[in-house]
Order: sequence, then structure tokens, then C-alpha cells
Amino acid sequence: MHTSGTSAEIRTAAKVCVQDVTGEVRRALAADGMRQGIAVISVPHTTCGLCVNEAETGLLEDLTRLAARLVEPVAPRNGFAHDRIDSNARAHLFAALMGGSVVVPVSEGALRLGTWQSILLVEADGPRLRRLEMTFLGE
Ligand code: ZN
Repeated sequence: MHTSGTSAEIRTAAKVCVQDVTGEVRRALAADGMRQGIAVISVPHTTCGLCVNEAETGLLEDLTRLAARLVEPVAPRNGFAHDRIDSNARAHLFAALMGGSVVVPVSEGALRLGTWQSILLVEADGPRLRRLEMTFLGE
């Protein structure tokens, strides 16, 4: 059983943005050398998330706009409890809904993503330096 992990730093570009991290995962998998198994990709953070979707320019813009609508304050303090100690409750709530990890099968040393699938990091409280954790389980 092959188990290994690595991480990459991702500097997000804005308060709310979407960044395609598929290349980072492919590079890490190639360096790792695992041929068959699963890749677990996660972020050790509470105000950004990961998803698998299409990295088409218009869709990335749409995803950013949707996230911005959910995250940006509509009224001072929003009425969320976490805003009593920090003013980013909506970013935490967005990250909770999106989830902080994705699992992608690996075969013959390649990520088994569909033609239109990419691994996207969605920032909800940036810009920040984020860490992408990649764990490879297999052989
Ligand atoms: Zn907070």
C-alpha cells in the first residue's frame, strides 16, 4: 500500500475568486509516481473550498459571481453569530456548503477526471496564502 502526501502553496488573487489547481495536482502526482489508487485533495482552511467542475472562462466568472453574492455583506454584520467575533461568517458558511476536499481516482498514473472536469479552489475570504494538501493512496 502506497500512502504519501505533499502540499502546494496557492496564493489567491482576490477576496472572492476561483483558481484552477488541476495542474498542481497533476505535477504532484507525477512527482509521487503512484500508478493506481485515489488522490485526496483538501484545504486545511475554513473560508475556502474545493470542487470539481468545468474551467470554462465564463463558468469561472459565474462561479466567482455566485460566491461573491453569497459572501459579500448585504447589511452590516448580517445577523450571523460568528460575525460577533470575526466579520467573515458568510465566508465560513460558503466554505461549509462547498466542502473542503475532493477525491479523484488515479489509474495508469493519471487523474481520472472527465474531459470537462478540473479541480477548482474557491476563495471566499482572500486574498491569502492557501495550502493545498494532496494525499495519494494506492500503489
Ligand atoms: Zn472567522
